[in-house]
Amino acid sequence: MDISNNAFQKCINPDCGAEFDCGQALFKCPECEELLDARYNWEKIEVPGKLDEFAKRWAERANPLDFSGVWRFRELLNFCHDQYKVTIGEGQTILQQNDAVAEFTDVKSGRLYLQYEGLNPSGSFKDNGMAAAFSHAKMVAAGSCACASTGNTSASVALYAHHCGLKCTVFIGSGRIAFGKLSQAMDYGAQTIQILGDFDDCMRQVQDVCTKLGLYLLNSLNPFRLEGQKTIMYRIIEGLGWEVPDWIIVPGGNLGNSSAFGKAFYELKQLGLIKQIPRMAIINATGADTLTDLINNKKLTWNNGNVDQKIIDNYYAGLTARNFSPHTCASAIEISRPVNLKKCLRAIDICNGVVRAVTDEEILDAKATIGRHGLGCEPASAATIAGLRNLRIEGVIGADERIACVLTGHPLKDPNVTVNYHKEKQGKFSNPPTEAPNDFDEIIKLIK
Ligand SMILES: [Zn+2]
Repeated sequence: MDISNNAFQKCINPDCGAEFDCGQALFKCPECEELLDARYNWEKIEVPGKLDEFAKRWAERANPLDFSGVWRFRELLNFCHDQYKVTIGEGQTILQQNDAVAEFTDVKSGRLYLQYEGLNPSGSFKDNGMAAAFSHAKMVAAGSCACASTGNTSASVALYAHHCGLKCTVFIGSGRIAFGKLSQAMDYGAQTIQILGDFDDCMRQVQDVCTKLGLYLLNSLNPFRLEGQKTIMYRIIEGLGWEVPDWIIVPGGNLGNSSAFGKAFYELKQLGLIKQIPRMAIINATGADTLTDLINNKKLTWNNGNVDQKIIDNYYAGLTARNFSPHTCASAIEISRPVNLKKCLRAIDICNGVVRAVTDEEILDAKATIGRHGLGCEPASAATIAGLRNLRIEGVIGADERIACVLTGHPLKDPNVTVNYHKEKQGKFSNPPTEAPNDFDEIIKLIK
């Protein structure tokens, strides 16, 4: 079977619709500069007739591709031969039913699930995307790669790059990266360039640098990265006994995840593998709420791909005019010009989605709740629980609906935020250390 016939790249702009083979590293449509999708000729791919057929691969876990939580679903992202597929054991994540967090959000017991992506090798969901994108990088024989990052991307890129023998440069904003993430990029051997600016500045620079030097770009502009991120949804369905939930809730930053999730469900429905597409809630931080503002106030819609570019241009011109820089404790979603905006609009259309923004205070209290009752998470992940709580108060989500929140990163990604919250008694659930004299009896008195 010639794999080149299985998949191709296609521009998402319906007025353009240009198509390219997967052997090219493009990242933007050369004709019109819009985003590209990975698309499939499904009639040429032997996709299992039922989703539960993927479960058989658990018995073949000695095969690294069956062990991978990404490649276990390889027929659904079939853009390269097995010889190029990269895996370091990503996607061994769990869907945890959590009644204590359900109670915090006023959801009935047994109905709330946390998809904990912190269990990935670099500690965040990004590894799902990198397994796919680095496979494409190998397919096109890339020698060097780069990314802009708020942190998790740089950690994941650095880890996969040295696994694949690629040179790697990561661009981060000055002082805007969580400590745990910066430590990973340095430890995994990436060249780290810290630009005096924010993530949006880094994103602009890295695109130009990649074009000039021919580096392989690993930001979520890369359509193959989003193919890997689709598998987070397959694993949620798997965790629910091959049923879809009523709601998926995801943090909104650069909007790669929400874009990938919408595409995943659209394709599963198209293939007849699911009957119903879940609804999706995307949660911004109020200090970085471009999507919320554009959707809820400026009424921006997908409109069958004919997105009103004027609304976006005016909005971004306004940000520039007031020299706006996003600000939130959830550094992973501290982004005001999300590169996947249009794909996200499509996902909102597919999933009948809603968008909300939550305050840093709400994020931090939700994070402490997930820490106390779940497996912990980084601040951006907690936006999902804060958002769910508000959507329950609004009555948008019902108490007995089945809900899956995507916890994108490990709690150790951002230890400073956690320590400050508890030690400085910043929030409702602060749990500061108790100071004690070096005296046995005094210590005994203090044990609760
Ligand atoms: Zn185009």
